[in-house]
Order: sequence, then structure tokens, then C-alpha cells
Amino acid sequence: MILPPFELHQPTTVDDAIELATQLRKDGVAFDWMAGGTDVLPNYKNRLNARDHVIALGRVDELTSIGKNSIGALARIEDVARNARVQSDWPTIAKAASLISSPPLRNLGTVGGNLLLDTRCYYFNQSEFWRDSKGYCLKADGDVCLVVPQKETCYATYSGDLAPILLVLDVELEFRGPNGARRVPLRSFFEYDGIKRFEKSPDELLVRVFVPSTDDALRTDYLKLRARDTIEYPVMGVAMGLRTKGGKVADLRVAVTGSEAVPLYYGDLGLGGAAVDEATADAVQAALLDKITCYRNVPFPPGYRKAMGGEFGRKLFLDLSGKA
Ligand SMILES: Cc1cc2nc3c(=O)[nH]c(=O)nc-3n(C[C@H](O)[C@H](O)[C@H](O)COP(=O)(O)OP(=O)(O)OC[C@H]3O[C@@H](n4cnc5c(N)ncnc54)[C@H](O)[C@@H]3O)c2cc1C
Repeated sequence: MILPPFELHQPTTVDDAIELATQLRKDGVAFDWMAGGTDVLPNYKNRLNARDHVIALGRVDELTSIGKNSIGALARIEDVARNARVQSDWPTIAKAASLISSPPLRNLGTVGGNLLLDTRCYYFNQSEFWRDSKGYCLKADGDVCLVVPQKETCYATYSGDLAPILLVLDVELEFRGPNGARRVPLRSFFEYDGIKRFEKSPDELLVRVFVPSTDDALRTDYLKLRARDTIEYPVMGVAMGLRTKGGKVADLRVAVTGSEAVPLYYGDLGLGGAAVDEATADAVQAALLDKITCYRNVPFPPGYRKAMGGEFGRKLFLDLSGKA
């Protein structure tokens, strides 16, 4: 499949990128940011909301660094997975990164592109020919959601692997735009709509992810369900952080991806202070089964994905509390 024509802009600094975006917006020209392009370009090939202008960020070197408390938005996924500091300070970020797709895509894809990944759906991620024969959906060229037929909300599924552990770690995102810089907690960034996805103006550029320091007592892990152990997106992913004190749950943090239109942070599931034992692991599982909703729009039946979310929660709790 060939790409549709578009004008490519390749700024080399953040300032130039913002200036360009501001100007395009003033001129009423729609554009997309593109980092590694591993999400943008396949969508363009399928004629999914392609724009006439693309601002490619591959030459903006200043956003690739990984620091003591932050990761640049343009850091490559593979560099994050292999980085010694990430592996020692935030091992679950390294693990989640290493589970993304395949080596070639990890070498192109970036942290920013992963977090801001477009949502996925059986009725959306198809060729134009397929969509024309089936009928267009709300997210591209149509006016009704074909998963949950109505005209208001798109139920396409968020399928990024990094968001759950970044929600657990309570990171903040820094954006730069025409009005300067702003920081927003990831936990309040996403908006439940597979089209809108989050609160961000088109000319804002994600520059950095700030990861607050935590002590070693907060143990974390991430489990991912996918059709095969390479290349595939998560169709259910659960990240957990657990700190225990005196045999009780002192801090429990649970987040899920691959279920709904946004990654969801469920906090402690109402289990703060519970005993660290198998009964609480069962309660984690029951709470997740109660909360998780999946739609029939990505591989595997919704009931199976939901059940696996519960299983993952139980296993993570037992593993992280040393009760496995
Ligand atoms: C076959 C295949 C398998 C995949 N498997 C997985 C998987 O297992 N897990 C997973 O999580 N992902 C997967 N992906 C999706 C994708 O490869 C990764 O999520 C990747 O990290 C996206 O990063 P990117 O830099 O290529 O994003 P891009 O395609 O460049 O951008 C993605 C979105 O983010 C926006 N954007 C990017 N950077 C910025 C920025 N700095 N500021 C503002 N907006 C920005 C773009 O405008 C676009 O909307 C897969 C993709 C393919 C094609």
C-alpha cells in the first residue's frame, strides 16, 4: 500500500517545531506530529484520517535523552528497554518497553508516540476498500460507531504498553506549545473517547515524561496478553505497584491497558490496609473482574480478555507480595 501525498516538515529544534505548528494552525492547516511513524504511517496507508502536512520529529535530538527523573518524548523504545538507569530505577518501564512489538519497531518507535498512540478497532484498522464495503465507522469517514452503535462515543481500544506502568508510577507529562510549557499528571490526561483520547491542543508537543522518585519498597510489575509473543499489541495488560508494611497493604496501585478507549488507573481497588494474603489476592481478582469492560473490537473475545485481567491482577499481587 502506498502513502497518500503530504508535505513533510523536518524541524531540528523544539522551538522550530512549535513555530511551524503554530503557523500551520494559524493558517487553518491540519497536520500530524510524527515521531517514529510506526503508528502514523500505517494509518496513513489505510487512508485513516491522513493530513496534508506532517511535522516529523526524527531530527529533534534534544528530546531523546533519558535522565535521572525523566525520559525524553523522542527516546526510542529499544533504548529505554536497554538503558541501565531505567533497568535499575524503573525495571517495569524497561520490561513493558521490551514487550512492545518487535526489534525493528522498537528501534523506530518512541516513548511519546507510544503514550499518544491512536486507538485501535477491528472496524477502523482496515484498508479503505474493506471499510467502504462494510460501511465507515465514527472514527473515520462514518457517523456511527460500529462496535456500540450510536453517534456520540468511539469505543476503539487503547493498546499502548507503557501507559499502565507510567500510571502506576504517577508520572507527569510536559508539553510545549505556542503558550509555553505545561505539565499534566498522566492520571488526569486521558479522556474517555476513542477519537478525542486526551486533552491536548494539536500544536502542543510532548517533550518529556517526568517519573517521580520512589523507594525500593514499591515493587512493580506488568503482565501482557497478546496473540503471540512478538509484534502483537496488548489485548489486555495489567501493571501493579505494591508496598506492604507489617503484613498489610500500605500502597496498592493498579492500571490496565487494552480494555477500553483509554488506559485506566484503578488505584488500590479499595484494598488499602488489607492483609497480605491469598484472600486479598482473590479480592484483587474479583475487583478487576468487576471493573474491567472489554469490547469486541480487537483480537480475542471480551470475556476472555476480562478474565485474563483478573488472573493477571491475582498473579501480580501474589508475586509482588512474595506469597506466590
Ligand atoms: C505491527 C505493529 C505492532 C505493534 N505492537 C505494539 C505493541 O505490542 N505495543 C505497543 O504499545 N505498541 C505497538 N505498536 C504501535 C507502535 O509501534 C508503538 O506504540 C510506538 O511506540 C509508537 O511510537 P512512534 O514514535 O512510532 O509513534 P508515531 O507513529 O510517530 O506517533 C503516534 C501518535 O503520537 C503522536 N506523537 C508522537 N510523538 C509526539 C510528540 N512528541 N508530541 C505530540 N504528539 C506526538 C503522533 O502524532 C501520533 O498521533 C505496534 C505497531 C505496529 C505497526
